[in-house]
Amino acid sequence: MDHLHRLHELFRRFPGIGPRQAKRFVFFLLAAPAAYRKELADEIAKLESRVTTCTSCYRFFDRRSTETVCSICSDRSRSTESLMIVAKDVDLEAVEKSRVYTGRYFVLGDTIPLFEGKHTTSHARSKELLTAVERAAKNGLREIILAFSLNAEGEHTKESIEALLSPITQTSSISVYTLGRGLSTGTELEYSDSETIKNALLSKKKDA
Ligand SMILES: [Zn+2]
Repeated sequence: MDHLHRLHELFRRFPGIGPRQAKRFVFFLLAAPAAYRKELADEIAKLESRVTTCTSCYRFFDRRSTETVCSICSDRSRSTESLMIVAKDVDLEAVEKSRVYTGRYFVLGDTIPLFEGKHTTSHARSKELLTAVERAAKNGLREIILAFSLNAEGEHTKESIEALLSPITQTSSISVYTLGRGLSTGTELEYSDSETIKNALLSKKKDA
């Protein structure tokens, strides 16, 4: 495989990027100043050493020192009574932008696929979630908010997580909520605006 083709293939793996867009990226890079290409390559190379996952909520964060937890998890003003479970980092960022939520998070890292076959492996951190909820339950956790996109995969993930957590939520009397009105069906959380997320959170529904 020649080099341009290889680069094209790498861009095609980006979420939402088709073959045509991937090709545009390659030609954009070819036309860009060499300094830009170098900066981009350097920043990508640094991801490995500079960015790490929080040992508490599993979101990615910029490691400035030897800290192991992110700024949200180390913020003592944030409530430990509420835990919001999201699929991806971008969802967490969308919720943070709405500025209505003041509790903690857990980033699953992936949704749970509808049909888990031999070739579909979910990267969802189910085991880690269970451990995090058990630990949070001992620290006064009162509610869990399942914040997933209103599409088939989001619904399935929500149901799987509910089932996974139900033994502990029942024995520890933790209320489980899902997002309320405002989010339209099929819309991904990351593409919802702050006002919509705010309304969905303020009208959160208690799970039966
Ligand atoms: Zn964290």
